[in-house]
Amino acid sequence: MDIGFNYAQELDQNDTLHTFRNEFYVSDKSIYFDGNSLGLLSKRAEKTVFELLDSWKQHGIDGWTEGKHPWFYLSEKLGALSAPLVGVDAEEVIITGSTTTNLHQLVSSFFHPTEYKSKILADELNFPSDIYALKSQLQLKGLNPNTHLVQVSSNDGHTLDTDTIIKAMNEDIALIVLPSVLYRSGQILDIETLTKEAHKRNILIGFDLCHSFGAIPHQLSEWDVDFAFWCTYKHTNGGPGSVGGLYVNKKHFGTPPGLAGWFSSKKEKQFDMEHTLTAATNAGAFQIGTPHVLSAAPLIGSLQMFEEAGIHNIRKKSLQLTNYLMKLIELELGDFNFVIANPRDEKERGGHVFLEHPEAARICKALKAEGVIPDFRQPNGIRLAPVALYNTFSEVYQAVQILKKIMTKETYKDYKNERGVIA
Ligand SMILES: *Cc1c(COP(=O)(O)O)cnc(C)c1O
Repeated sequence: MDIGFNYAQELDQNDTLHTFRNEFYVSDKSIYFDGNSLGLLSKRAEKTVFELLDSWKQHGIDGWTEGKHPWFYLSEKLGALSAPLVGVDAEEVIITGSTTTNLHQLVSSFFHPTEYKSKILADELNFPSDIYALKSQLQLKGLNPNTHLVQVSSNDGHTLDTDTIIKAMNEDIALIVLPSVLYRSGQILDIETLTKEAHKRNILIGFDLCHSFGAIPHQLSEWDVDFAFWCTYKHTNGGPGSVGGLYVNKKHFGTPPGLAGWFSSKKEKQFDMEHTLTAATNAGAFQIGTPHVLSAAPLIGSLQMFEEAGIHNIRKKSLQLTNYLMKLIELELGDFNFVIANPRDEKERGGHVFLEHPEAARICKALKAEGVIPDFRQPNGIRLAPVALYNTFSEVYQAVQILKKIMTKETYKDYKNERGVIA
């Protein structure tokens, strides 16, 4: 079958999500495949930022309760908009903090080591910030991270094996923290099975959803996951430093926040100014201080688009895009030593394609110079994320042609094979 440019155009014509592209600031001079690191700005997100600036302008302090999106209830409102993306009830989600601070909050709330159950289980492929947070939480409890953080190893350097993780769920493990999708290879972990196995052993389990939130549907309630946390600037296009999110299973409501603050309060009680905290009886209890209203503002507009598009439709198109990209890479770039290092199977493939090549750093620089925006991951990885809401199949086709030209003409050799400050 011919899978060339005509085929790409045909796929674009049949794309039921194609109208969303017009809502984003996409440059016609470049092909943006980095939505898994920082999603693009949409006009709706921009509009809601202006609306919140306007409530400050118009109402001053009264913006907390007046204006289009009263700030006092914004974290809860955004939690409700996020709940369908993770498959849980509105009261189980709050938009607050960042990935790393939410992980700190959740571990300090749910990790209660005892003499015989005092270790945390993680993996050796997770993003460094999660590992730093887990180690520092152990230290705060007077435990040695070298002995008390158990990191499951990978057999191939890219993926984790479910059975290997389960085998590491020993009696001395009190808490498990794993990513839903690995940030390099894009592998999706089997959250349902891992949760079931953890609970059989009386271990609490939480997931970092940074690379799946807004890209892949979740059924956290059905799977009975204890907690989860994520950022919103990747697939949900909340902008640089946008406010993160967390989920706490309602069976844990009433667990006191490990890191308390006045925004952990029941909302009706907060302004009683008592020195004894009456914590909210929902996920709101895991907030700490005043919400970062302007960094949450873009999410109002952005999350509406996810509600309209539907996460299952987004996932379907995302799989088509990555599938098409992999097919073209095999067809067009067979001579150039690329290894497709993400899982192929749709059950295990996340939202991006992960290519390995010894010259990856300079190939990324050459791609950027030619207007294709990937990202580089140490030491030899190229991540390419065609995103369902704003990328097209024609862009996938064009990007592969550009990569082929760079390889054929060896123009990547004009660049140094080392990463930039921000890779
Ligand atoms: C992006 C990402 C982070 C970033 O954490 P921040 O607190 O938002 O800076 C952490 N962990 C994972 C797995 C990520 O993908």
